[in-house]
Amino acid sequence: MGQITNARIVQTVSAREGRAFLVEQGELIKVIDVRGQQAVDFFAFCRHDPREYLSAEHTRVGNLRLFPRVGQAFYTNRRRPILTFVEDHSPGKHDMLVAACDPTRYASLGFKGWHASCQENLMSGMSALGVEVIEVPSPVNLFANFPLEPDRSLRVLAALTKPGDYVVFKAELPVYVCVSACPQDLNETNAGNPTEAGIEIGSR
Ligand SMILES: [Zn+2]
Repeated sequence: MGQITNARIVQTVSAREGRAFLVEQGELIKVIDVRGQQAVDFFAFCRHDPREYLSAEHTRVGNLRLFPRVGQAFYTNRRRPILTFVEDHSPGKHDMLVAACDPTRYASLGFKGWHASCQENLMSGMSALGVEVIEVPSPVNLFANFPLEPDRSLRVLAALTKPGDYVVFKAELPVYVCVSACPQDLNETNAGNPTEAGIEIGSR
């Protein structure tokens, strides 16, 4: 398991950058934390109408969980399965509660000037495929370690992933996916050191 033997796309997404890809229905998508302790913001949009996209809030109620288990689906804002969670070779900590980082977030953390962000990575990645995203969905924050405490507070802790940890999804519809190697370096998200992400798309 884990190997996408007929990989059509094998790419590294550089640290702090993002890329979007076309995926056919039935194809597998493997997202790899190459060096460990790196959160990867992941988005998926329907190709027939990008106004339909992977929705964190519809996925939570669709599974009655904060994050799907392996075997469960991610749902769109029109409540259709868009991806299936096929494999998880990581500590299993992922987040679907926290917005993508954006210029305002970095400004609020005291950063002066331009800082790369997952929101800009999404916009530029989709724009490169000719899709101008109007709305930024709440992301699937792969490998992010943002635990929900018993008093319902959230914490931002460093990812627990080791080099080479990965997840695999199956596309249930023709989709665009976007991965952003989160550039957050002002808190613990990426243990202070943003690094690259790997992606493979294809079939077994
Ligand atoms: Zn980010």
